[in-house]
Amino acid sequence: MDGTWQEAEGGTLDIVSPIDGTRLTTVGAANAADVNRAVAAARRAFEDGRWSRLAPAARKTVLHRIADRIEAEALALTVLGVRDNGTEISMALKAEAGSAAGTFRYYAEAIDKVYGQIAPTAPDVLGLVHHVPVGVVGAIVPWNFPLMIGAWKLAPALAAGNSVVLKPAETASLSLLRLAQICMDCGLPDGVLNVVTGHGHVTGEALALSMDVDVMVFTGSGTTGRRLLEYSARSNLKRTYLELGGKSPNIVFADAPDLEQAAKVSAMGIFRNAGQVCVAGSRLLLERGIHDEFVAMLARHAAALKVGDPLDLSSQIGAVNSERQLAGNLGFVADAIAEGGDLVLGGKRILQDTGGTYMEPTIVTAVQPHHRLARQEVFGPVLAVIPFDTEDEALRLANDSDYGLASAVWTSNLSRAHRMVAGLRAGVVHVNTYGGSDNTVPLGGVKQSGNGHDKSLHALDKYHDLKTAWIQL
Ligand code: ADP
Repeated sequence: MDGTWQEAEGGTLDIVSPIDGTRLTTVGAANAADVNRAVAAARRAFEDGRWSRLAPAARKTVLHRIADRIEAEALALTVLGVRDNGTEISMALKAEAGSAAGTFRYYAEAIDKVYGQIAPTAPDVLGLVHHVPVGVVGAIVPWNFPLMIGAWKLAPALAAGNSVVLKPAETASLSLLRLAQICMDCGLPDGVLNVVTGHGHVTGEALALSMDVDVMVFTGSGTTGRRLLEYSARSNLKRTYLELGGKSPNIVFADAPDLEQAAKVSAMGIFRNAGQVCVAGSRLLLERGIHDEFVAMLARHAAALKVGDPLDLSSQIGAVNSERQLAGNLGFVADAIAEGGDLVLGGKRILQDTGGTYMEPTIVTAVQPHHRLARQEVFGPVLAVIPFDTEDEALRLANDSDYGLASAVWTSNLSRAHRMVAGLRAGVVHVNTYGGSDNTVPLGGVKQSGNGHDKSLHALDKYHDLKTAWIQL
């Protein structure tokens, strides 16, 4: 905070590794006073222009240096994060450090290409539209991909000239604390990035209730998202952008180009990172004619996935993030069976002798659209399978959700693919794949999956205000 490491007045928080249950270290548990000091430091830095009034090209140089350092330290950063949050390193290397470096580079390159506008006014007036930084950005991020999602918020916010107060999740602070040190080492001026670790309902709440945070950006649960909107209403009406997960439909038609490939990709689409992925394809909608065959293929692929120590490169699924999360996953499975679902694969905690939190990939068929497993986000390795008969029914079932984040359609019928892209109420529609993305395209949800977008040039909108200059000539 403010260019130095400071003790939190609020005490400390134990960091327990989901790999084996050991206590790794402690971090500060910031209280409201700590948060207010961080916000004040961010405000001072913003107002005196040490970053906000640098030429965009100068900010770009610093952001590139940060990307270079993330790349140089990619392995160490990733290991730190994996020990903290349990994501399999085979994916985290690319999805965490690799992706964060790419995101810093993308916004470094973008920021000196953002132009204002000249309005088409009458000739005796000059109307200019400036893009100006918003001021102090509060960012609250989750534990599933701390570096990747942290970078999605930090890189465009900093590129635009804002100051930031970042609050990592309780169970994924370490790699973001290291990133803060990297930012300082790379010449980001003191006070421009401040990290406050601690409990959501204390540290996060204080940040979201601050009267001096201009914009809040968040990725996490719907419950917390709702609270953030309340905090905004109770404080300074700060603009609040939410990315809130989903119950994303993965729709496989009998005319999919390659069912075996679809089954393999669909298994990874739900089970990677132990299902702790906001865009996870957690509702599999299957055309009835291929239902049994496809479930058998999927179960074969899922059963072959190696669950284990996330630091072992051969593990394809790492640990569930916490005991609390694992208990929630098992509760979903029990409820699904009680409601009449058929457990085809998994359903149990495994590797308990390691002291860690691991769970088998789990497939439940005969799930009805009104069942809890069809409606609520598990955020774990639990797949609900629902059959359908027609394209219309598939679309109706897919859209019968409070959420609207991701989706996928598997078909070799081009017209059907376009009809489904048009009809699906989701921020992302994959066709004949699941989960692909990069920085060039926005990620955001509709309905209760949130508002606003991370990634792409569109993300910069969140971190800029528009200012009009109306000049009489
Ligand atoms: P999950 O249930 O998956 O942990 P959360 O929405 O609780 O998702 O967590 C996402 C982030 O929101 C974390 O950084 C967490 O600390 C934070 N958070 C949780 N509760 C609150 C709250 N009441 N106010 C602000 N932030 C919160």
